[in-house]
Amino acid sequence: MSRDINNKFWDEELETLPREELEKRQLADLQEIVKFAYENAPYYKRSFDEAGVKPEDIKTLKDIQKFPFINKKTQRDTQGVGSFLGELAAVPEEDVVFISTSSGSTGVPTMSPFTKKDFDEFQDTESRWFWQIGMRPNDRYVHALNFSLYVGGPDVIGAQNLGALCIWGGTLPSERLLFVLKTYQPTVIWTSPSYAWQLGEKALKSGIDPKKDLNIKKIIVAGELGGSIDATRKAIEDIWGAEVYDFYGLSDIFGACAAMCEAKDGLHIAENHILVETIDIHTGEILEPGQVGELVFTTLRKHARPLIRFRTGDIGRIDNTKCSCGRTHGRIHILGRKDDMFIVSAVNVFPSDIEAVIREQDGITGEYLIRIFERDFTNKYAVEIEKNADNPKSDDEVAAEVTAALKARIGVKPARVVVHPDGGLDTRSEHKSRRVIDERTLDYSI
Ligand SMILES: [Zn+2]
Repeated sequence: MSRDINNKFWDEELETLPREELEKRQLADLQEIVKFAYENAPYYKRSFDEAGVKPEDIKTLKDIQKFPFINKKTQRDTQGVGSFLGELAAVPEEDVVFISTSSGSTGVPTMSPFTKKDFDEFQDTESRWFWQIGMRPNDRYVHALNFSLYVGGPDVIGAQNLGALCIWGGTLPSERLLFVLKTYQPTVIWTSPSYAWQLGEKALKSGIDPKKDLNIKKIIVAGELGGSIDATRKAIEDIWGAEVYDFYGLSDIFGACAAMCEAKDGLHIAENHILVETIDIHTGEILEPGQVGELVFTTLRKHARPLIRFRTGDIGRIDNTKCSCGRTHGRIHILGRKDDMFIVSAVNVFPSDIEAVIREQDGITGEYLIRIFERDFTNKYAVEIEKNADNPKSDDEVAAEVTAALKARIGVKPARVVVHPDGGLDTRSEHKSRRVIDERTLDYSI
């Protein structure tokens, strides 16, 4: 590959397109994909007809607002209907070279098909993110993500296409992964934020100092919000002596649709592939860029199964101003999943807000468990934490400190803070931790 390794951009022209030019390209692709979806996917033909809209109605980007939303349920209801790929698919099965499927953690797994062109463009986007965080052909990269069915698995191909030496790690047991890190001295790894942190702790406990004995310079994290929580990111960076970059993916689109740059102020989203809208989570009303709401994505170039106005269930905002890194593609800031948000005393609380407080607090390990429950038909939350073994304060004092910090940051204090000794919480699961337990019995769906 003849790319100049000193050029900070993978595709300079694309990444620095003036906003007007970028939107012009988005409009051309939007017109094409909406027409393609209407003519080839039975679901869109039916739903556009029912809504009284036609592909020709799209004259500006804003015209997408006339079209109906889809969501996870639409995918579930239409997959396998009429054909193997279902009614959202717009190409015959022989044109499809790959399917990924969602974890099914919130219901029946949904599958996402790719044509050869879809897949190649997906991997070119992944190469762009790897290059953006500074990966170059002389890097050694460990892809420590699940390969089974998961859309993040193939992303390793993006790193290979960039020219890096790739180690297809998958979800190795931590002892084996530490062996890989020690023996092959890779420079870049991708895993989940909670696992990156736990792996660092495990290394220290087994006598390996990640800063001295290993050569990891960059850690990519995704799958949980930690990478965008400053205190969590810094905690991981401190253990490893490495830079941490957050990536954001969707099983329905790409392994990573957006990625941090060196400015670490939000995640650049591939606007040449995804048209972003933000809507009010309750009313569906369209919000201005910058306002917080549910992110709605339209895929502009995926032909196997176009997603037109897909409600992601993620709450966040998009910043369309030019970044200090020089890239013009907007940056998304994710606050959390709509399903994870809970309301206490009229305040919207995200588990990530609580995590940020816990990770900043001195004298505790940073592990936590949140319980959401009802008392007198009102939502309450409780937090369980672990006190460091060398913390001389009493449990009551520690609980009072954490309560005050949560109240100051979130606006509502927890019903209780339970203090455990170091290692007392059972939250150190490998790869993806479960830290929120919802004990409520009433329906709070929004
Ligand atoms: Zn940037």
